[in-house]
Amino acid sequence: MNSKTPQIISTINDLRALTHQWRITGQSSCLVPTMGALHDGHLSLVDLALREADHVVVTIFVNPTQFGPGEDFEAYPRQHETDIAKLASKNADAIFIPEPSEIYAEDFSTEIQVKDLTQMLCGISRPTHFSGVATIVAKLLNMAACDKAVFGEKDFQQLMLIKRIVRDLNINTQIIGAPIIREKDGLAMSSRNQYLSSSERQIAGQLNVQMKKTIAAIKSGDNMQTCLQKAQENLFAAGVDKIDYFEIRTEKGLELAHTNCQTSAARLFAAIHIGKTRLIDNMPV
Ligand code: AMP
Repeated sequence: MNSKTPQIISTINDLRALTHQWRITGQSSCLVPTMGALHDGHLSLVDLALREADHVVVTIFVNPTQFGPGEDFEAYPRQHETDIAKLASKNADAIFIPEPSEIYAEDFSTEIQVKDLTQMLCGISRPTHFSGVATIVAKLLNMAACDKAVFGEKDFQQLMLIKRIVRDLNINTQIIGAPIIREKDGLAMSSRNQYLSSSERQIAGQLNVQMKKTIAAIKSGDNMQTCLQKAQENLFAAGVDKIDYFEIRTEKGLELAHTNCQTSAARLFAAIHIGKTRLIDNMPV
C-alpha cells in the first residue's frame, strides 16, 4: 500500500497556514479530531474524510478538560509513534499534535455550555465532560477552519452536541457522522478496550449480545421496559459491575422513549463499567 508521510504540526499558526494554503488554492479539507491510541474505528473516519475532501488533518490531543476528577486522564494511552505510522498508511496529509500549553493559556477562562442534550446519558455520570468536549471541539474547528469534520456515531450524544454547537455558533464546518466499527464479537472499538483484562474482555462482548437481543425482542413486539430490564439483569449476571444507563432515546433531541410506539427514529444507548473500565455503545432500534 502506498503511504505518504504526514506533516506533523504542533502549533496553531502552522495548522492555520496549512489549511489556508489549501483553501486559497481551491482545495478542500476535512478534520478528524481524536485523542490518539488509534484503532480501526478512528482509521475508518480518516477513510471517510478522504472521500469527503482533498486533504485530511487528524488531531491527536488528550483533552484534560473533558476528564472529571478520578477519571483516566493520566492513564489514557498515549502512543504517538504508532499513531503516526497508522495515519501514514491511511494517507492522512497532516497530524496536529499540540502540547496542552498551545491549547490552553494559563488564564484560559472561556467555556461552552450546551444547555440541551447534556442533561442525560453520559452527562449524568460525567457532569463536566460535555462542556470540556464542546469547548475543545469548537476550538479545534476554529483553529483548523476545515470545510468538513468527521465524528463517530460511537459517541452519538457527542455527535449530536457538536452538530448543535456548530449550528448555534455559526461555525463554518460541515459535521459528518461515521458508523461504529466493531471487533469480531461486536464490541465497539475503543481506545479504552485496552484497559480490559482477558476475563473482562470476555464480559465486554456481552454488551453487544444483550443490545442486539433487546432490539430484536422489542421489534418482535415484546414490552420495551421488560426487555431493557431483562438485558440489564443479564449483563450483571455476566459480570458487569455497574450500568450507568441502558435505555432507548430518540435520535433527534435524545428524548427518553417510554413505549414501543415511537414515531421518530430511536436508539438504544448503553454505558457500563467492567472493573475500572467504562464502556459506551449505541445502536439504532
Ligand atoms: P476518541 O479518540 O475516543 O476521542 O475518538 C475520536 C473520534 O473517533 C470520535 O469522533 C469517536 O466517535 C470516533 N470513534 C471512536 N471509536 C469509534 C469506533 N469504534 N467506530 C467509529 N468511530 C469511532
